[in-house]
Amino acid sequence: MENKDNKTEKAEAREQKKLQKRAERAAKRREFRRRQSSASIYFLLWAAFSAISLIIVLLFGFAQRMVMIQTYEGTIARRLHDEGKEIQEAIIDRPPEEFNGSWSAYLNFLSGYYGVDVYIISPEGEVVFPRNPGTESENGRGQRDFSKEVEKLIAELEAQNSGFVIYDGDGEYVYGAEVHLYGDSPLYLYVAQPLDLLQTVSNQMTVRIVFIAIFVFILSFAVSSAISGWLTKPISEMTKKAHQLAGGDFDVDFHGSQYGTELIELADSLNYARDELSKADKMQKELIANVSHDFKTPLTMIKAYASMIQEISGEIAEKRNKHAQVIVDEADRLTSLVNDLLDLSKIRSGLSELQTGTIDMSAYTQELLERFAYLRETQGYRFIVEIEDGLYALADKVKIGQALYNLIGNAVNYTGEDKTVYVSLKRTGEDVFRFAVRDTGAGIKNEELATIWDRYYRSTETHKRPVKGTGLGLSIVKVVLERHGLHFGVESEQGKGSVFFVDFPLEKEAE
Ligand code: ADP
Repeated sequence: MENKDNKTEKAEAREQKKLQKRAERAAKRREFRRRQSSASIYFLLWAAFSAISLIIVLLFGFAQRMVMIQTYEGTIARRLHDEGKEIQEAIIDRPPEEFNGSWSAYLNFLSGYYGVDVYIISPEGEVVFPRNPGTESENGRGQRDFSKEVEKLIAELEAQNSGFVIYDGDGEYVYGAEVHLYGDSPLYLYVAQPLDLLQTVSNQMTVRIVFIAIFVFILSFAVSSAISGWLTKPISEMTKKAHQLAGGDFDVDFHGSQYGTELIELADSLNYARDELSKADKMQKELIANVSHDFKTPLTMIKAYASMIQEISGEIAEKRNKHAQVIVDEADRLTSLVNDLLDLSKIRSGLSELQTGTIDMSAYTQELLERFAYLRETQGYRFIVEIEDGLYALADKVKIGQALYNLIGNAVNYTGEDKTVYVSLKRTGEDVFRFAVRDTGAGIKNEELATIWDRYYRSTETHKRPVKGTGLGLSIVKVVLERHGLHFGVESEQGKGSVFFVDFPLEKEAE
């Protein structure tokens, strides 16, 4: 019983091994196919080039051979037609004096004169003349047996029903006609032009074509490997540099200048990608440095004040509360910093979808301004507000609110001594209205106008701010407005202040 189990186990193991091997082989085949299908440009170019040149040579070679054969055959047929006729007439005229009436000698003469084989044969296919063809020996043409040819000749003559026929015989062109040398008994004139010369020439041509093809193949091998090497060199160089770039080396420079437009464009794009990557990398580093700095400051404060409560102010309620308030404020600052960072990364990565709906922007802007009321009441800020009624927009209420809030907050933070901020919401066209917030501060330098949106973070706190800023405000504004597809911008005059604006397409009131 156990033995049996053992056996089945072994069989199973063997089966499994077999399956494994099969799977390995299949994997190898797949890998081979994958490699084949992703052969290098170098190889593909070479193969294509060589194949095309080879095909062209063979096509041309064999086409030429065909044309040559046809032309040659045509010429032979025409010549045989003329010569055959002349020979036929010569035979009707009978052998002249110098041949003493000898048909054999006369036919041998005509054969030599025209360079063809001339026979007179009987309807049974026997050679009647020349009796001693070519030479005096019996081994000459006279030995030929015409029993088959004569049948064909008679058949052709009957079919064409003319005085003579020309046709393509077996390895020769034939001119045939009925002749009467003695009385009425019919004999046949058989003039043949052998085609062996044509065969020789066409064989020679085939050999030549094959030789040329081999030569062209070798030549195209050399030329195509030179060309494909020349073409792929910059690509492999760029690939190497791209790897370097991926490894974090932003000093690489891509060149394509000496190799045609496409490669120049590719090099330009790669250089652009490098610059952008380098910028993003720098920003990222700055962001991390700044964020950690800004995490550290409140944390240090929290620790310091907690220690103070522990050691000094724990007993004195008033001091303790003041110190505890600092801890709460700093903790709030940390919370808003973390929230802003999360918001930014969520919106940037597209993780948080826009929840769009029709919003009454007139009412909503008022609502946002309410949040700044404490500044008006406690710190003497003035808000000069001009809001048209009934302006609706399609937007994500929370996110658009955050963006506008950041813009108003910035105006408060950066406005001038008069502590005045101007907010307006007005139609600027048939179906568009503009949110604008103006301050009277120092304004923004021209060269910074474009970058303030992208600056992930501001590194130095210049003055105490009434609205808590995390330095991520405009980055959030930009991402939110871009996701909404809204037109926005900033106009600023140094010393006079700045205007940040957002244009909304006018929406109909929601039902
Ligand atoms: P912050 O929290 O530092 O205000 P923001 O992203 O909101 O961060 O703004 C980025 C930078 O743009 C600010 O540091 C400031 O230099 C500049 N900025 C923004 N708004 C104004 C404004 N109304 N007036 C002048 N400068 C501004």
